[in-house]
Formats: sequence, structure tokens, C-alpha cells
Amino acid sequence: MMEPFQLVNESYYLIKDWQIKDPSLVAGFTTRFGGVSGKPFDELNMGFHVGDQVEDVRINRKRLANSISFPIDEWIGAEQTHKHHIQYVTSLHKGRGALQYEDSLLDTDGLYTDESNLFLTLCYADCVPIYFLSFEKKKIGIVHAGWKGTVLGIAAELVKIWKNLGIHEDEIHVVIGPSICGNCYIVDDRVINQVKKRLSPSQELPFTMKETGQYYLDLKRMNELILREAGIPKLQIRTSKLCTSCDHRFFSHRRDHGKTGRMIGFIGWKENGNGGKGSK
Ligand SMILES: [Zn+2]
Repeated sequence: MMEPFQLVNESYYLIKDWQIKDPSLVAGFTTRFGGVSGKPFDELNMGFHVGDQVEDVRINRKRLANSISFPIDEWIGAEQTHKHHIQYVTSLHKGRGALQYEDSLLDTDGLYTDESNLFLTLCYADCVPIYFLSFEKKKIGIVHAGWKGTVLGIAAELVKIWKNLGIHEDEIHVVIGPSICGNCYIVDDRVINQVKKRLSPSQELPFTMKETGQYYLDLKRMNELILREAGIPKLQIRTSKLCTSCDHRFFSHRRDHGKTGRMIGFIGWKENGNGGKGSK
């Protein structure tokens, strides 16, 4: 399978074929390069909540806003709590969490919209970014799935919400983004017991045993299984091979022992684009 994420410059990747299909759509993921933050947040830290200088994070965010031509006052960010609340956002939410953490959307790990001129952003360092698109029904969304959000089924939660809005599973395209790989992510029985509970007995297991009480868990695979179970056709789920822990272009919570920056995953339609009712 071809890697869905293509590097545009040192600071970010885009999901290239989504952009080819709809030139107004901007969906991707940042790297750690091209920003002003000092150690251990060097350089392009996008997270306000990690202890970095607020002003540095603002400069980093504005740099990306400039380079991607998506104004900072159209960004929307969330206070992520590793749960499965997903928020529908509109122009009323514009700017929330863009330049300070304090006005982020509370207790939210997923965002979706049908409007353009909104840049939906969530922060990551190993957790799984999952991007959703319905070309047919003009909807975009993104969720944040660490192991907790994954076993809570946040990916299936977004599918459920969209199905209730009249979108068929066949009309939903999903891309699973850069995140920690199955070789880097070692977890204990507490996590694995939750993983087993979430999966139906007929499904393959997304983990292997390392030693007693220690397992390699493939969170990307686990989310694929959850999405398949939610009815998304196999060919409409694509997964990045990029690992945030193996690859030093990224911040990694595991590799950097918790003291590190955050990338953002982002998705939005630009003004005058084809997508979104807000473009009219
Ligand atoms: Zn890895």
C-alpha cells in the first residue's frame, strides 16, 4: 500500500491523494522541525499544555498557519482527555484553542464539520490520529486515539454519529496517521485486558506477547479492526507506516520519556473550495 502521507516541507505532511481529489482539502500531520521551541520541545512544538513557553507555541502555530495558508483565527483545538467525546464544530467555534489552551473545547477527543474555513486540530505524540472524509456528504473529521480512546472505540463513535446523519459506511473514507508502531509500543495486562474486551472473539488480535505480562500492541491495527467492525469497507481504510517513536522527525511520548512536544493532526477545507456548505 502506498504511504498516504507525503512530506511537503520539513514541517508537515499532507494526505496527498485526498488533496488531489479535492484541492480545497488540507489534511495532514506536522513534524518536529521548523519551529522556535527550546529543548525538550525542539523545535515545532504545537502543544500548549506540555510546559513549553506559550509565546513559542504561538509562533510555531502561526508559522504553520502561514506556510499552509490557513489563518490562525480559523483553527480549532481541544482539551484532550483520552475519552471518546466528539464535537460537531462550526464557525461559532473558530479560534477556540488556537492561541491558548484555556479556551480549547473542553473534554473533547474528536472534531467534525461540514463547513469550510475551519482548521480542525488535535495534538499527538504517539497516539493515533484518525482522519475521516465523506466526499459524497461533505463531511470531514479527526479523532485522537491513544490506547484509552482506542478501547473506548472513538473511531467507531465517529462512524456511528455520521451514520445517524444519513451517511452510509460506503461513503466514509478513513486514513490512520503517523503514530507509535507495534514494535515500539509495549504495554501490560491492564491494557491488554481492555483490548480483549473491545474486540469480538472472531477478530484477530492486534498484539503479541513479549514476555509474561508484557505485550507489543499495534494500536493502528486495533483501530483498523474497530473500523472494519463498524462497517467501513477495507479498501476505504488506509494506514500510514510512519512511526512517531522509530522516526526521529517526530515527538514521541514513549521514546522521550514523557518530556517532549506535540505534533498536530489537522483537516480543513479552504475558502472558495469545493467542499463544505460554508464555501458558498
Ligand atoms: Zn516504532
